[in-house]
Amino acid sequence: MLRRRSSLPSDSSHLATSSRPSRVGEEAEKAPGGGANAWAHGIWSAEPTSPPFHNRACATASCHQKSTYTPPPAQYGGRHTVTLIPGDGIGPELANHVQELFRFCCVPVDFEVVNVDSSVSSEDDINSAIMAIRRNGVALKGNLETNHNLPAFYKSRNNLLRTTLDLYANVMHCRSLPGVPTRHHNIDIMIIRENTEGEYSSLEHELVSRPQQFDVMVMPNLYGNVVSNICAGLVGGPGLVPGANYGRDYAVFEMGTRNTGRSIAKRNVANPTAMLLASCLLLDHLKLHAYAAMIRQAVLCALTDTRMHTQDLGGQGSTSEVVHFIMKAIQSTGPLTVSI
Ligand code: ATP
Repeated sequence: MLRRRSSLPSDSSHLATSSRPSRVGEEAEKAPGGGANAWAHGIWSAEPTSPPFHNRACATASCHQKSTYTPPPAQYGGRHTVTLIPGDGIGPELANHVQELFRFCCVPVDFEVVNVDSSVSSEDDINSAIMAIRRNGVALKGNLETNHNLPAFYKSRNNLLRTTLDLYANVMHCRSLPGVPTRHHNIDIMIIRENTEGEYSSLEHELVSRPQQFDVMVMPNLYGNVVSNICAGLVGGPGLVPGANYGRDYAVFEMGTRNTGRSIAKRNVANPTAMLLASCLLLDHLKLHAYAAMIRQAVLCALTDTRMHTQDLGGQGSTSEVVHFIMKAIQSTGPLTVSI
């Protein structure tokens, strides 16, 4: 299913057309103690596509509906508990940075950390993680490596988690980012991907030659994976784009391209943007929009400073330098923060 920006005839007549989910667009609520920018508030927000899907049919037919969902309730004192699965590769260090940033910004979220050891064949860890998501309703996760050396009955942990929790819709919003040099500009594509099935067509050629023509792409699972990775590449790479998985009852946020980044793990060089923007989607899902807007704005601000570009963007900035820059940017706008 595609929606093109122009009225070009679609060569995917087997796919229905969908309206683009409306942006949050409304005037940004005030960030805690400081001004949130409507621009940062209105993009990458989970709200337009957070479970407005009442069932599978609705997920593919009415993704434009205005959200009416109720997020998991806050506990006494207004705090939310969120499952955090650090995952493999760069996942643990990025998860630490999200925790550090949330603490710094006094975000009313407590993480329940569940480590999953993907090197063992036992499913105990992943079952504990699934149980924790059932309890909390929502999770932030790093990607779990699929161990191909284990016996054939071994199932991908990522897959097990998505299918068990019936997270049937994956949503990835690929937008050209300020300060990130790319061949194509003005890209703004919402990819909505079925998370359990698969088929191939041949859209990728059109996508790389003129990505601006696409607005919303609703994709089956396997092909959605190809298209998501291409789109992430078009706007600057896997370190930049967040992703979300929604079912009727649960939501799990992660890096859009689901890389583990094993080769750059523990080197303080990973680009934290995708994971931090995923944490903003999580905050929007919890209707903590002001915190989401505040963090998102600072993350985008860091991208406009080339000294804060990590090596994937051709720069020399380290992960921790970027995160500290983001903290300082937030602090400078005046909200309540703890000392760095
Ligand atoms: P794997 O099986 O390890 O997941 P993969 O090829 O699917 O392999 P990765 O190797 O994890 O994916 O990532 C692909 C490329 O993207 C790698 O070069 C990795 O360094 C890079 N990459 C992924 N995430 C980030 C990030 N957050 N910041 C910088 N580079 C990243």
